[in-house]
Amino acid sequence: MTILFVVTCSPLLILSNVHSSFSLSNYHSSVKTFKFNATLAYDFIQKQVDLGSRYPGSEGIEEVRHLIASELLPTQNWVIIYQNFSKKWDDQDVILVNIICTPISPNFTQPFFLLMAHYDTRLWADKDPDLSKRKEPVLGANDGASGVAIALELGKTLFKEYNYSNFQLVFFDGEDQGQILGWDWLLGSRFYVESQEFKSQNLSFAILLDMVAGKNATFKREKYSDQYAGTLVTKIWNEADKLGFNKYFINQTGSRIIDDHLPLIENDIPAVDIIDDFVHRFKPWHTSFDNMTFIDMHTINAVGLTLESTLIQLLTSEGWLTNLTTINYQTNFLILNTLNFFILLASVTSRCKKRLIYRYNLNLKD
Ligand SMILES: [Zn+2]
Repeated sequence: MTILFVVTCSPLLILSNVHSSFSLSNYHSSVKTFKFNATLAYDFIQKQVDLGSRYPGSEGIEEVRHLIASELLPTQNWVIIYQNFSKKWDDQDVILVNIICTPISPNFTQPFFLLMAHYDTRLWADKDPDLSKRKEPVLGANDGASGVAIALELGKTLFKEYNYSNFQLVFFDGEDQGQILGWDWLLGSRFYVESQEFKSQNLSFAILLDMVAGKNATFKREKYSDQYAGTLVTKIWNEADKLGFNKYFINQTGSRIIDDHLPLIENDIPAVDIIDDFVHRFKPWHTSFDNMTFIDMHTINAVGLTLESTLIQLLTSEGWLTNLTTINYQTNFLILNTLNFFILLASVTSRCKKRLIYRYNLNLKD
């Protein structure tokens, strides 16, 4: 992903779809015993890193697709859809694959939310302090593997421990190759929102996990998420605070990040990006140092438990979702552009007026 600085605009609030509450078999609000297993998530980061770099077209990325499937399919209760598309890379067609995983149970009706992460890693370590390493591939322990591992473990927990199945895990390819060989960022998620798999659904929200296992991680309220899914952001950050994880989830507005949640927001799905402050803090970002030495079990635990707790409360509380607000992206975009047009018009008119007065004064002197 990359970072973007633009002018913040005022939000237009529109109520999203109303959903009924769900009863989860293992949840009792008075007894909070968490089921998320941080050790298993850590092991799954290690398993991905053991495959080497996982950039599009590599052997590693091929193997990580099998790894994800082998983690879910033995239970025989997950259906996996592979969404293939291709992209030219040095005159070669590279196949990219989004992986959509759906738990199947008698309780399944339709996917109601998504847990998302990108699983590709960057081809070049172009931020490495050692210039000679900048054309080497990134291992992506945090930037790639961590989001996949925590989303996968959380998905397994919801399904196995709470018997909850109205969600999907979506793992995107082609997120992290921006500015390399003419590729853009977010290729997988942009392809996904154009697909039938996305369009045929009536999703209420989505949560994206990216760089979520670094030592001393700090997750600020990413600006797009705050603007277009503010209620959900507040819910997650408050929950982290209640659980004592406020040293990770910092209740401050962060940067505006171009990441896989953005195509969802552009399609009016409230989407939250939980992402480490890679600009100011996560120094191994896009370097050869993004390896297992930087991965921390405490961070994994904080993210996993915060999301487990938030999701379970959200899915069991009557009426909470009726308050889940989203902002209509297209309308907001239109309002912002209209405002900008009038500001520009006012500024041009004012300049012309000053010029006319100046000329008039010159004429008077003549
Ligand atoms: Zn990246």
